[in-house]
Amino acid sequence: MTMNTGTHQNKSIVILGGGTAGWITANALIHRWADRGVAVTLIESPDIGTVGVGEGSTPRLKRFFDAIGVAEPEWMPKCNATYKVGISFANWSTKAGFERYFHPFPSQADRHTATAYYFNTYARRLGIDLHAHPDRFFLAARLAENRQGPKPDENFPIVVEYGYHFDANLLGDFLRSRAIARGVAHVQAKVVEVMQSADGDIRELLTDSGQSIAGDFFVDCSGFRSQLLQQTLRIPFRSFAANLFNDSAVVLPTEQSAQIGSQTISTAMKYGWAWEIPLTHRIGNGYVYSSGYCSADEAETELRARLGLLESDTPARHLKMKVGRVESHWHRNCLGVGLSQGFIEPLEATALNLVCNTVDDFITTVEAHGLEGDGRDGLNDRVNQGFENVRDYIVAHYIVNSRSDTDYWRRNGSNGEVSPALRQILEIWKTGKSLSLEIERQKIPTSYTAMSWYCLLGGYGIYPDIRPAPADNAAGRKVNMAEIDAYIGRCAMNFRLQNEQLQFS
Ligand SMILES: Cc1cc2nc3c(=O)[nH]c(=O)nc-3n(C[C@H](O)[C@H](O)[C@H](O)COP(=O)(O)OP(=O)(O)OC[C@H]3O[C@@H](n4cnc5c(N)ncnc54)[C@H](O)[C@@H]3O)c2cc1C
Repeated sequence: MTMNTGTHQNKSIVILGGGTAGWITANALIHRWADRGVAVTLIESPDIGTVGVGEGSTPRLKRFFDAIGVAEPEWMPKCNATYKVGISFANWSTKAGFERYFHPFPSQADRHTATAYYFNTYARRLGIDLHAHPDRFFLAARLAENRQGPKPDENFPIVVEYGYHFDANLLGDFLRSRAIARGVAHVQAKVVEVMQSADGDIRELLTDSGQSIAGDFFVDCSGFRSQLLQQTLRIPFRSFAANLFNDSAVVLPTEQSAQIGSQTISTAMKYGWAWEIPLTHRIGNGYVYSSGYCSADEAETELRARLGLLESDTPARHLKMKVGRVESHWHRNCLGVGLSQGFIEPLEATALNLVCNTVDDFITTVEAHGLEGDGRDGLNDRVNQGFENVRDYIVAHYIVNSRSDTDYWRRNGSNGEVSPALRQILEIWKTGKSLSLEIERQKIPTSYTAMSWYCLLGGYGIYPDIRPAPADNAAGRKVNMAEIDAYIGRCAMNFRLQNEQLQFS
């Protein structure tokens, strides 16, 4: 692609907000455009502060660090970060044998085992009695179980994709100092007024310290308050509350054990789910719940009981979440990134994915079409589709759950508010067809790979009852599970414990 340098060269871009979204954006823009004379300024209010949560990522964050040239030893120790190979879902299903499953990040080892899993799920969906739980088929599940990190020993040529866990505040600090060192101007003040020109474009931001900060383009990273996109430009917000009932969270840290885990654990609770995120110095815990079904006090008590902290005076933090997305992420001369553009509950730790995707899409679009907005509609469509795709995958967890212990779970299980894309995927699964082929053939929009869908639906045990095997059937070509176990076991021998992989010096 040829770079259209004329339209953004020497422009000035102002970012409002210094949370993770603001500093990721600042680093990406300065890295890409500093040599085009683009000036980047970031304004953040020390009084307002950041949301201070968001400690899990997918492999997308690794691609961001790789792209801006930051190596792991440079940032991970400073952010108390650990490696993450996937997420365990515990107690979401009540089906015997499926009370827990693991959603792995992909690895090259899957090439030898995923087909066997797909084959078994295919047979099991026809009622044939084969082993069809995902965990025995994926290397990352074994690494998680053993608390191993994702980096193989030097002589073992299998790549495992991975994400990270990190302290959100420390990550913000790291990204801030890096961006400033590379030339991003930093203003610490609260924006109290937004000045617009006659055509509606944003012209300048006025701060409580009397500064006026003008720019050609503005990026709204002001968090849930969405000061530019929603408050000033009045972009409507589309709530996802009809599909996703959770709107609150309570957060409590606990001590880290000697052997640090390499997975996030998401455990279903009475009115939502609790995360457990291992960092080097502590475990981050939080309960994401629906305030329509339980009070903040009840949620805190349930979380404390789970963590053995009923008698402890460790303070809990309570947060409200606004779940949904704006109608347009890029409007006039303003782009929304982060919580200001939308949020989907953090069940699959996807918020920073959407941040990185939006920023990358913006850079690519501007380089192709300029800053004036010619590529705006395309970006809005793609980012909206990204949000809808993630929402569908999260909603699937709730639709297929088999808990019935509270109204919350019963209502989730019977919720008919399902997008056509998700409905199609569930239908394909139930009719026993190949998910991968059908997703491709029917052009079903999804950001998740077929493997992720197979793991989710197989992991929850969405299978019919076992039927007596006919004489000529798939079970005749049985996958040898002992061979799969041995293969995965031998692969896993080439990965050291997470603790050892975190020794950077
Ligand atoms: C309970 C919960 C759990 C989460 N877990 C995950 C997870 O596991 N993984 C994941 O990827 N994401 C997760 N997220 C999302 C993640 O926390 C956010 O996407 C991420 O932190 C980015 O936030 P932000 O920068 O958009 O907003 P914020 O962190 O809220 O930052 C907003 C910034 O704007 C500034 N600001 C606002 N108004 C003004 C003003 N008028 N003047 C000056 N400055 C202003 C503030 O000072 C602040 O610097 C979670 C979110 C919640 C609520």
